[in-house]
Amino acid sequence: MSASDVPVIIVTGASQGLGAATAVELARMGAGVALMACGAEGLAATAAAIHDQGGRAWTFVGDVAIHADCARCVKDTIDQFGRLDGVVNNAGTLAPLDTTANADPAAWQRNLLVNVAGPFNLIHTALPELKRRQGRVVNVSSGAAEVVIQAAGAYCAAKSALNHFTRVLAAEEPEITVVAVRPGVVDTAMQHVLRDQGPRVMPEDQAAFYRDLKTHGRLEPPEVPGRALAWLALQAPHSWSGRYMSYDDPGLLAALKR
Ligand code: NAP
Repeated sequence: MSASDVPVIIVTGASQGLGAATAVELARMGAGVALMACGAEGLAATAAAIHDQGGRAWTFVGDVAIHADCARCVKDTIDQFGRLDGVVNNAGTLAPLDTTANADPAAWQRNLLVNVAGPFNLIHTALPELKRRQGRVVNVSSGAAEVVIQAAGAYCAAKSALNHFTRVLAAEEPEITVVAVRPGVVDTAMQHVLRDQGPRVMPEDQAAFYRDLKTHGRLEPPEVPGRALAWLALQAPHSWSGRYMSYDDPGLLAALKR
């Protein structure tokens, strides 16, 4: 099989956590993977893990909140691999973890830039190639899109916006398939931030909920939702376009078992 026969997917936030696990799963499923994040060291570690298992990966240091960075990532990916078949918009930030009354306005606005404008920036620049290839977009959402998490107003608003953007994009662009996915509660740095900083700003019962998830071993390892995200980026059926779904959706689990 020549290099250009292999599907190519961009994964943002691939320097650690869920993005890194998704990228490794994608490579295991046979895709070439372009890894994007701000941190070069983490990206290099993910790329090394993929190369070690015989996969193809390429790194791009950039900020998803900057449109020009996303445009260069898309262009360089197509130059490098000869094609682009999908995007996993996984890069995300929880900050500021603070109540609306106390939140830093610049941090609040930055949250929406990363979590909502980031996916827009990448999709906007990738769309012509995605449409040409009937490609796929996986927007990594969160249960926070629907559940009230006090002191995470920007994050909740951003994930809710991402879900509705997904629906609008699905209607506008019937040639592509786009889904928003809740990855569950995952054992990554983001959960560590909740446990570490939550007690300072959250109601006691809410902070205890996040602490207990870790204590009682109820966090998902990143590889579990990572596998679901990777499969969706390569094979999500077009009839699912516009859906907000969970990583353990029964239809998705059945497809993963096949
Ligand atoms: P994480 O460990 O904090 O990883 C976040 C990733 O996003 C890092 O690779 C980070 O890399 C990257 N990133 C942040 N800002 C960026 C920017 N401006 N440009 C490019 N990359 C950026 O968190 P995670 O848990 O793996 O989260 C991954 C996704 O899952 C997020 O969208 C999150 O909202 C979602 N999610 C997580 C959970 C959970 O329980 N963990 C639950 C629901 C949803 P750099 O710092 O190197 O840029």
